[in-house]
Amino acid sequence: MAFIDPHIHMVSRTTEDYERMAVAGCIAISEPAFWPGFDRRTPEGFYDYFRQLTDFEPRRGTQFGIQHWSWLGLNPKEAEDVDFSREVIALIPEFLGRPSVLGIGEIGLNKISRNELQIFQEQVELAIEYQQLIMVHTPHLEDKLKGTRWILDVLRESGAIPERVLVDHVEEHTASMVLDRGFWAGLTLYPFSKCSIPRAVDLVEVFGADRLMVNSGGDWGQSDPLSVPRLILEMRLRGHDSRTIEGPTLRNAIQFFSQSKHFRFELDA
Ligand SMILES: [Zn+2]
Repeated sequence: MAFIDPHIHMVSRTTEDYERMAVAGCIAISEPAFWPGFDRRTPEGFYDYFRQLTDFEPRRGTQFGIQHWSWLGLNPKEAEDVDFSREVIALIPEFLGRPSVLGIGEIGLNKISRNELQIFQEQVELAIEYQQLIMVHTPHLEDKLKGTRWILDVLRESGAIPERVLVDHVEEHTASMVLDRGFWAGLTLYPFSKCSIPRAVDLVEVFGADRLMVNSGGDWGQSDPLSVPRLILEMRLRGHDSRTIEGPTLRNAIQFFSQSKHFRFELDA
């Protein structure tokens, strides 16, 4: 069954992962910019990372028939130094015209500090100014509820259009506030933290398949690039029909991405 993984960090994955994903039915992925596990020391470090995301990775995906789309931005983990962050943000517009770029992401909050909030707000404004889609990272564990509230408030005050924003890493206690305000919601399937596959299917059953998207969140940590096809299997075993399964694993991503300037995708009827 064809699927899209809308949130995976392929720079941290091997070429074998691309191949395994393709065999499992992956036809496209989208890769937001993130934190490499250590803080980059220069804006040029980000510049080269954005080149990798928009040039090298699309070519690697093409070898396996996987369309590679990307998001540019500054992750909250690297957004504590405001002056430095602004130097990085100034580099982004140059890349927004590249044909595989969908928008600004993943941006958001981690520790919910004042500086993180400031830089999140400035990146939301950048997205609006350049008519870009937005992908938002919500904080983990005990900070998730508070952080998600702050994020939704900043988005509303900035005038971001909810249908043009994906709020990712939602869980049971944050899904409804995201969906009720008209945003797309992302479910991240991690083997050890975030959301397990059975929990994610429960969430789809409770909240409906209309505006939820599941992703592997695969990065350099323990994660599984085959999480989305594993969720497809779990939904099939629970008796869901193909049309229902395709919502959170394929069609919703296509509908959301299609609002961007660059995304073109023809799905067989
Ligand atoms: Zn991520």
